Amino acid sequence: MCCDLKRRFLLLYATQKGQAKAIAEEIWHQAGAHGLEADMHCMSEMDKYDLETEKDPVVIVISTTGTGDPPDTARKFVKKIQDTTLPLDHFAHLQYGLLGLGDSEYTFFCNGGKTVDRRLQELGAQHFYDTGLADDCVGLELVVDPWIDGLWLALKEAFLLQKEKEGMSSLVNAVSSSLSASPHVVHELNLSSEVQSLKLEDGVRSSDVLTQKLVDINLVASTRDTEPSLVHSVPPVSQSALNIPALPPEYIEVQFHDTHSENPHLSSLISEGTTFEVPVTKAVQLTTEDAIKTALLLELDIADTVFDYQPGDAFCVICPNNVNEVEELLHILGLSEKAEYFVSVKVKQGTKKKGATHPQHIPERSTLKFILTWCLEIRAVPKKAFLRALVECTSDVGEKRRLQELCSRQGASDYTRFIRDSNVCLLDLLHAFPSCKPSLNLLIEHLPKLQARSYSASSSNLYQPGKLCFVFNIVEFPACPSRPVSRKGVCTGWLAELVAPLLHSSKTTMDTKQESTSIAKISIFAHPNNTFHLPADPSVPFIMVGPGTGISPFIGFLQHRQKLREEHTDWEFGETWLFFGCRHQDRDYLFKQLRCFLDNGTLTHLKVCFSRDSSTAEVAQPKYVQDVIRLYAKEVARVLLRERGYFYVCGDKKHMADGVSDAIVDILSKEMEADKLEAMKILAMLREAKRYLQDVWS
Ligand code: FAD
Repeated sequence: MCCDLKRRFLLLYATQKGQAKAIAEEIWHQAGAHGLEADMHCMSEMDKYDLETEKDPVVIVISTTGTGDPPDTARKFVKKIQDTTLPLDHFAHLQYGLLGLGDSEYTFFCNGGKTVDRRLQELGAQHFYDTGLADDCVGLELVVDPWIDGLWLALKEAFLLQKEKEGMSSLVNAVSSSLSASPHVVHELNLSSEVQSLKLEDGVRSSDVLTQKLVDINLVASTRDTEPSLVHSVPPVSQSALNIPALPPEYIEVQFHDTHSENPHLSSLISEGTTFEVPVTKAVQLTTEDAIKTALLLELDIADTVFDYQPGDAFCVICPNNVNEVEELLHILGLSEKAEYFVSVKVKQGTKKKGATHPQHIPERSTLKFILTWCLEIRAVPKKAFLRALVECTSDVGEKRRLQELCSRQGASDYTRFIRDSNVCLLDLLHAFPSCKPSLNLLIEHLPKLQARSYSASSSNLYQPGKLCFVFNIVEFPACPSRPVSRKGVCTGWLAELVAPLLHSSKTTMDTKQESTSIAKISIFAHPNNTFHLPADPSVPFIMVGPGTGISPFIGFLQHRQKLREEHTDWEFGETWLFFGCRHQDRDYLFKQLRCFLDNGTLTHLKVCFSRDSSTAEVAQPKYVQDVIRLYAKEVARVLLRERGYFYVCGDKKHMADGVSDAIVDILSKEMEADKLEAMKILAMLREAKRYLQDVWS
């Protein structure tokens, strides 16, 4: 490779305890292997770099300290970019990628990185690569490793774009440069001939054409064996000596008994309280057939039980694994004929495992089928220790090596990409590695307990005595290279199948009375929530934010409030706000009858947005609930600050809840004329006072 084509990028780090620096050094180190040159500096060395004139991509690694502060070494830098006199296009020339480090145990997770990221965006800088936020609480490497892996391609694309801007002739150079950094010879050969033909055919062609050619070439190359997959590795992993974890000692012994007996009752699997087996009396599909996700509402009859709940409470559904998957697993394990045998499980005598005990979630006596159906989470993503143990049960040498790679330090990013992020389960592995034949004891040792799933009550016992409703999306795992078949979520897939005969289209309204035609029953137990309840004082105003199925508990809130208003006409009731959002007005607007609550005064303000509906309005419509909340900044601040109201958020943890709290911080900061940090402290106080309440799930 020609050295003047070696691509440079600026690498800045701001560290408190050395982690950001160590990660930056790792990036610096890897850059060389990718034919790139990282010009690395601590953020505090402001005389060594100049973002005002920087033309190359910038990579920033920054940690968080104190209560959401950037590290000391970033203070000057942050102060400089926060200068309010800077024009909004100050960094319009800048392309950057940012990796924030933090700890989600603290309220202001990754705030150092978020602060810098937000301000760079405000000043017009562009992301060439998505921001990564790594969590020390679960292990920084879970985000850091894949983030670094993806950085190289993003950088190369950024260089190509940069060159495209500079003109066609330099673009061709950039292409050669980018590809000569690639470890795959196939890419190099293909591309040079493509570039040649471009030159020969037309002389100068538009950069769009070349970009398209590059995309095509990448597609061709990726279909070859040059790409890693679940079962296939490429250099450097395939050629590395591997650091693999120690083999976990076996500690379970199983014995089969061909006897006749009863399987234990499901209630014996639950230690959290009393279980209730209740009939499903109604099932309604709330979304249309063409909606991206399918949402169902189920109504349970709890009249004959002592099950009690308040709006805002959740409860748990005991669910089995998919019947076909259990059969398949039995078949692969060669245990189909023993499916109905009783299994007794003991701790192996003389095991080297420290503190080995009988797994609590495996009954003393139950059939093999019962254990695989009700006790073990067979869909769990296999941990590295499990992969390590599976190596020992695999006869094919190539398969053995790949399993070793996937649990090794060198194969960490392959593990993340092909197993964890692809949501691969044991069955997928057994299909991909057919010579792997684990024993039942290994499964019991490594598969976790099959957990009951929680759902928020979507009804009020005052409004619908003897009924308990809930709403859920059927989780879909589409087929992918690591998983040849598509699957549904364990619980939601099972529920959907169970209630199929009861299902009615979304046109059926919630209040329509229907005859119960099925005796489908499910087992549930209480999972009360201590705080996510209506304010004790009905005169206090409150705001509810619940996009998608996050609307669920608020239906219960509103039903309850409506009943209270009917029964206590002399009470004073505070203002109520509901922010709801979904993709399309005509496909997944789950509860159109929210209007009824508005019409009868139970709900004072209903604000709805649709993220995927195209709008003909001149001014762009807000897409997400957080965008709509910003439009009502004054009212939100009044309810929260002056009227000491409550704020409830329910639904998606990853994408929505943070967006909403960011919006609230901005609102508090604007309305109180305080800086962001001050606003964050107020939000923290609201959380502490249980007036900002979240019920979020992933
Ligand atoms: P599983 O088989 O357990 O799969 C879900 C897992 O897969 C999740 O980890 C998810 O991150 C991941 N995943 C999902 N889709 C994909 C995909 N396409 N590709 C890869 N990975 C994917 N849910 C509701 O719908 N309504 C509620 O009211 C509700 N209330 C809840 C209240 C509480 C307190 C909690 C903790 C959770 C709540 N949930 C609710 C979530 C619910 O408990 C289940 O997690 C959810 O229904 C999925 O269960 P499942 O068994 O069908 O999916």
